[in-house]
Amino acid sequence: MSAPDRRYNDALKAMKSLEKAGYRTMMAGGCVRDRLLGKTPADYDLATTATPEQGMLHFRTEKLTTVPTGVDHGTFTLLMPSGPVEITTLRKDVSTDGRHAEVAFGTDFAEDAARRDFTINALFEDAEGQIVDFVGGQNDLKSGVLRFVGEPETRIHEDYLRILRLFRFWSTLGFTPDAETLVTVADARDGLARISQERVTQEWWKMSAGPALAPALQAMISAGVFRMILPEVTPCVFPTLVDLKAWQSTLSAPVAVLAGLCLADGLHEEAALIALAERMRMSRHDGKRLAFFATARRQLLLGEPKDIAERLLFLDGCEAAAGQGSFEKLYAPVLGSITDLAHALKAVQLTEAKFGHRRQAELPLSGKDVVRQTGLTPGPEVGTILGQLKRAYYNGEWTTKEQGIALLAAHRKE
Ligand code: ATP
Ligand code: MG
Repeated sequence: MSAPDRRYNDALKAMKSLEKAGYRTMMAGGCVRDRLLGKTPADYDLATTATPEQGMLHFRTEKLTTVPTGVDHGTFTLLMPSGPVEITTLRKDVSTDGRHAEVAFGTDFAEDAARRDFTINALFEDAEGQIVDFVGGQNDLKSGVLRFVGEPETRIHEDYLRILRLFRFWSTLGFTPDAETLVTVADARDGLARISQERVTQEWWKMSAGPALAPALQAMISAGVFRMILPEVTPCVFPTLVDLKAWQSTLSAPVAVLAGLCLADGLHEEAALIALAERMRMSRHDGKRLAFFATARRQLLLGEPKDIAERLLFLDGCEAAAGQGSFEKLYAPVLGSITDLAHALKAVQLTEAKFGHRRQAELPLSGKDVVRQTGLTPGPEVGTILGQLKRAYYNGEWTTKEQGIALLAAHRKE
């Protein structure tokens, strides 16, 4: 049995177990949507009439582990052998302020559907595999429509993050809203300033990887939403479809797309990219990967790297910033969109194909060898000599340890 089946079966088991105890329970939201689209859900959510306390008590008697992940909002997590299942008590909104909702627990699935964002996200599936649809979500799934549950204006003002969720689902599913909804979204865009940066970045991250990113991004720019979340960048010239696809095919679509948009807009100083990464609360790792685009661009703009060593060291730099293979899998696809860099990139690629083995091999001399051979005390000078040795090694000026030692003679302390 494949892994996704196991996760579904575990969620089904949990659902049946709660049902047997008298709590009406169904799969809800994204997992039902994805299953109907023939996709494997990223996670499974159950909606139930049990309160978190009742649910956790129930599973304790079943000898299963639960974690109170968001009990105030009605959620706990059940740890099943195949992974976690999120279980949430049916809810209805009591009040909303554009960012947070105060919720009350309920027992009505229709009310729970009414507080969800889009019709395609408001579907339930019971233990027999029957779909329960209070909002016409199945129809919208079939016709590829993104429609708010209820009145768009009201729903957006309850939680402005829904603006970004709209563009995110547009990008990831290729579904589209109607023109009127888009106007409403554009009118409400200023409300995004009230949403926490973490939530904004999370949506941007998911959106960047979507197969329909191009139209979603274009619409986001037209609606003035893009400049609300990325004011640093003004994409005057929209990237070509070929470029966007190339950026998305990298080892990190979000970092690459962001880098591509920044570079195209002239935002290419390390400091600017570091500041952007910090403002967006990106992880240190992603911030480093993003900032190195500026370094790489600058180095390549100096002209076609002059010798083999310079090209191989450039590749080492990419890998130090973003891991093995990151030149091909992250930097080249984005930097390749800059016409001026085509030659320099090609030179690096050819060098890697021909001489990359020199980078893979361990340098036959270590810092300790340098100390032993020269009589120097360990310190910066030893580092400099090692650097020179590496350059020479990369250029093919020496290959064996003996040859290296012979080269070191010049540095021997008298
Ligand atoms: P993903 O594939 O990213 O998990 P998802 O649709 O499952 O997509 P989640 O953020 O996991 O999205 O939320 C689960 C469900 O909760 C959604 O399908 C939707 O019904 C509801 N939901 C999530 N965020 C909101 C929101 N801001 N407003 C209204 N309903 C929401
Ligand atoms: Mg989900």
